[in-house]
Amino acid sequence: MSDRQICDLRSAICNFPVTVIGGGLAGSEAVWQLARRGIPVRLYEMRPVRVTAAHHTDRLAELVCSNSFRSASLDTAVGLLKEEMRRLGSLVMQVADRTRVPAGSALAVDREQFASELTAAIVALPEVTLVREELSVLPDGLTIVATGPLTSPGLAQCLQQTFGQGYLYFYDAIAPIVTSESIDRSIVFSASRYGKGGEDYLNCPMTRDEYYRFVDAVLHAQTVPTKNFERCVYFEGCMPIEEMARRGPDTLSFGPMRPVGLLDPRTGQRPYAVVQLRQDDHEATLYNMVGFQTKMTYPEQRRVLRMIPGLEHAEFVRLGSLHRNTFINSPRLLLPTLQLRARQHTFVAGQLIGVEGYVESAAAGLLAAINVARVLRDQEGVVPPATTALGSLVQYITDPRRHDFQPMNANYGLFPTIATRERGRDKRRVLAARAARDLQAWIAEHGIDAGTPDLSEVVRAGSGS
Ligand SMILES: Cc1cc2nc3c(=O)[nH]c(=O)nc-3n(C[C@H](O)[C@H](O)[C@H](O)COP(=O)(O)OP(=O)(O)OC[C@H]3O[C@@H](n4cnc5c(N)ncnc54)[C@H](O)[C@@H]3O)c2cc1C
Repeated sequence: MSDRQICDLRSAICNFPVTVIGGGLAGSEAVWQLARRGIPVRLYEMRPVRVTAAHHTDRLAELVCSNSFRSASLDTAVGLLKEEMRRLGSLVMQVADRTRVPAGSALAVDREQFASELTAAIVALPEVTLVREELSVLPDGLTIVATGPLTSPGLAQCLQQTFGQGYLYFYDAIAPIVTSESIDRSIVFSASRYGKGGEDYLNCPMTRDEYYRFVDAVLHAQTVPTKNFERCVYFEGCMPIEEMARRGPDTLSFGPMRPVGLLDPRTGQRPYAVVQLRQDDHEATLYNMVGFQTKMTYPEQRRVLRMIPGLEHAEFVRLGSLHRNTFINSPRLLLPTLQLRARQHTFVAGQLIGVEGYVESAAAGLLAAINVARVLRDQEGVVPPATTALGSLVQYITDPRRHDFQPMNANYGLFPTIATRERGRDKRRVLAARAARDLQAWIAEHGIDAGTPDLSEVVRAGSGS
């Protein structure tokens, strides 16, 4: 950090208290983490004064769609992330566990009870001042911006001016990602078009019959309905594959599935069509399907995309989507501590940084708050090890070498590889055990205060009973 930046940071810190903008999953978690460290917080939540197109209540941490926090099992990275959050004293996890409803292996909650209990817990905290107001400028003092995928237009405009054009996005066009080990290398071949760029892409070759069968399946697959507020004119660069297929059966073979410049080494011939896979992480454990953004439902994506030769057993760590979503170009703008590189007294958290999902958003709020508290104590910012669910996710989204950034959820594909003979579920258990060990060591090394006061005590104290 330059002397100038240190100076700016110190003067920002003097502007007490900390401001958190947005009382959703990330903002609420951040507020709790700060307050339980004795730090006064002013929380700006614009509802009900200003509404969003998805929220229906004035409660904090309202779940806008599903009531599920997804899998509770450590076999999944989101299950592991939840466990890590519990160890870090997460409010969201504590309330979710208290308001749980039966949902098989998933952690689902009674949404009304969840938001009500969480709101009561925050409002009861003496350190917290809740201001029901839209904030459309960035305050000068220490701030966490957690305004989510439906950030108000006023603040979005301010962020755009602060970061510059092209650093704030309003739609995501997510192509599915598969794990490297689930790709059938006896079918898929490495090559770049016309040999330019070495063997950078993996190519799934298709015959004429395979191509038209695939297009037919795409055309008949169920898709997610587009909500009114999501309606947009598709840009050519982010058109879903089913929309392209609707323009004519050959459109895809002239678009993302064009085979030009590629020869299948098994036949020495140009395939009729090709699906290209591009390396998505530095360790080459993940590959994204180039140009394959889609609004097919998740079960349909798994069924239809496994028709692609070489992907019959594909393990999807992220499925495709295309929807309204405000998020920043984190690889360019954010440090892994979740501070803006160019404005280090401003932290950003939640879906706005390009993580996907309730749990991931809350986890980002938790980390941002830990680091705000450390700044206030003159300590260096910290990031959990890359071998943990939170650390691997944060490092993925803030990796400055990343181009074409799109939001990401927690998944084991982001973890550094491990030398082990285990595969599938057994391997994931080894990764989870390593994560638990490394997180514990990290907590101890940095003296992270992971204790959680009993929630019912907090609520009772606040209500004066
Ligand atoms: C329609 C939709 C459905 C989704 N469904 C799911 C799902 O089923 N499962 C899942 O895991 N994830 C889902 N997500 C993704 C995401 O996980 C959630 O949006 C999640 O709530 C993000 O948490 P957050 O804290 O970043 O934002 P939010 O929870 O949206 O919180 C942001 C808060 O900031 C407030 N705010 C915005 N601008 C301002 C301002 N200028 N001043 C003051 N307050 C402001 C908002 O009112 C809101 O309360 C969905 C997203 C959308 C848009």
